Amino acid sequence: MIGPLFLLFLLALSAPAAALELSGGAIQGGLLYGQTVPGSQVRLEGRSVRVGPEGRFVLGFGRDAAPSATLTVRRPEGAEETVSLTVVQRDYEVQRIDGLPQTLVTPPEAVWDRIRRDAALVAEARAHDTQLPDFAAAFRQPVAGIVTGIYGSQRILNGQPRQPHYGIDIAAPEGTPVLSPAGGIVRLAEVDLYYTGGTIVLDHGHGVSSTFLHLAGLEVAVGDRVAQGDRIGTVGSTGRSTGAHLDWRINWFDERIDPQLVTDLAK
Ligand SMILES: [Zn+2]
Repeated sequence: MIGPLFLLFLLALSAPAAALELSGGAIQGGLLYGQTVPGSQVRLEGRSVRVGPEGRFVLGFGRDAAPSATLTVRRPEGAEETVSLTVVQRDYEVQRIDGLPQTLVTPPEAVWDRIRRDAALVAEARAHDTQLPDFAAAFRQPVAGIVTGIYGSQRILNGQPRQPHYGIDIAAPEGTPVLSPAGGIVRLAEVDLYYTGGTIVLDHGHGVSSTFLHLAGLEVAVGDRVAQGDRIGTVGSTGRSTGAHLDWRINWFDERIDPQLVTDLAK
C-alpha cells in the first residue's frame, strides 16, 4: 500500500521544473508569450489574462506602454509569483505637415456618426476572448511585398497630432490574394467602412486579432474558421486610401501590436 505522504512526493516530482516561462517581446508593440502550470491565474497590472488548457497565455504591450509592468501568476495550489517586467521603449517617426486645407484634416460632419459606428463595430470584433490556440503560431506576412508604412509613426497636420499609424502597409497590386497570417475565426467582414473600406477582423484567440484594411474583395464571412494560408480577400484601395496596398494590424484586445515584431519574433 502506498501512503499519502509518498503520493505527495510523487506529485512534487512530476511537476514541471519551471512554473513560469516567458518568450517573445516585452517591448512596446510586442507580444509576450507565457507558459505556466495549467489552472493558474494570470494577471497583468491587475487585469485577468486567459490561461489555455496547456497553461499557455499571451500578453500585449501597446505603442505607448509604460516602461515596467507587473505580472502575477497564482498557481492552482495557491503559490503566487510576481514578476516585474521591463518593457523596452521605442522611438517613433514623427512627421509635421503644415498649410494643408482644413477639409483634408477634419472629416465632414455628415460622416461623424458613420465613423463612430464603424469604430464600435471594429472594437467589438477585437474584444473577443476565446480559447483558440492560433495566437501562439508563427505568423506569416499575409501578402508578399515591400513594407511602405511602419507601425507607430505619426503625422502632425496643421499642428494637430493624428492617430498614429498602427499597422504596417504592404505595397501590392490591386487584386493580390490576402492570405491568413495564422488560423482564426472571422469576427468582422465589412465591405465599406468609412476610413478603412473593405475590412476583415480575424480572431486568433486569447484577445489576439488581425485586421486587414482597404480590401477590394472579401472572401470570408463572419463566423468562418480559417487556417493559416487560406485566402480571405484581395488587396485594394477602398476607404480613405491613396493607392493599392494592404494595411495589416494586430491587436491584443485594444492594445496595438506591431505586426513586423510578431512575424520577426516568430522566425
Ligand atoms: Zn496604413
